[in-house]
Amino acid sequence: MAEDEREEEKPRVKWIPRSRDVDKPAALPGIHRYAPFTNLTDRMTTPALNRAVMVGIGAAVALDVLRPIALGMWDAAYCYECRACYATLEKCPASITFQAELTVACRTMDYRRFVKNRGLLCIRCGNCNGFCVQHLNLADIFGKMGVATARAVREGKVPFDVVEGAIYEGVIGREYIDEIYEWYRSSGGRRLG
Ligand code: SF4
Ligand code: SF4
Repeated sequence: MAEDEREEEKPRVKWIPRSRDVDKPAALPGIHRYAPFTNLTDRMTTPALNRAVMVGIGAAVALDVLRPIALGMWDAAYCYECRACYATLEKCPASITFQAELTVACRTMDYRRFVKNRGLLCIRCGNCNGFCVQHLNLADIFGKMGVATARAVREGKVPFDVVEGAIYEGVIGREYIDEIYEWYRSSGGRRLG
């Protein structure tokens, strides 16, 4: 049988908005219902708002995924925040206790979170790699984020108080301190010592 003929045989069901369908209750008695995802047509602004919100959420998620990919940290997306890497403990020569925080900071390009959790002290030794249940190369990820963070500081993308706090707490490794301190001083920061 031809495809067109089969199409014709299908019973055509007329779509009726729930608000006008007498067989479906628009709301249960006594219950005021907020139903932004239903087919109610008497809420004209709601569908448009839904679409706008969905587009916004989609764009934010896409940005979160695309930015680390662009910087070569795509594998950070596989971290499911189990925190098994916290078992690194004293094997981390930089005394970083929350490796998962760094991984999440890399995934979301959260410079503040990376700096606050001592990410700029990571020396890429790889001792934490063996604790990651996802077999992520954490040393490589943290190293790339360190370079990206130092660049973000120079470009003024990291808040001044975060940079100043990191300098005075001594949580910037020697690999990055010269360029970050130079930016800090040129931005009006106090001289150390
Ligand atoms: S790679 Fe970095 S975070 Fe991991 S153990 Fe070494 S210094 Fe610590
Ligand atoms: S062990 Fe690996 S997957 Fe688990 S939180 Fe740490 S980095 Fe993420």
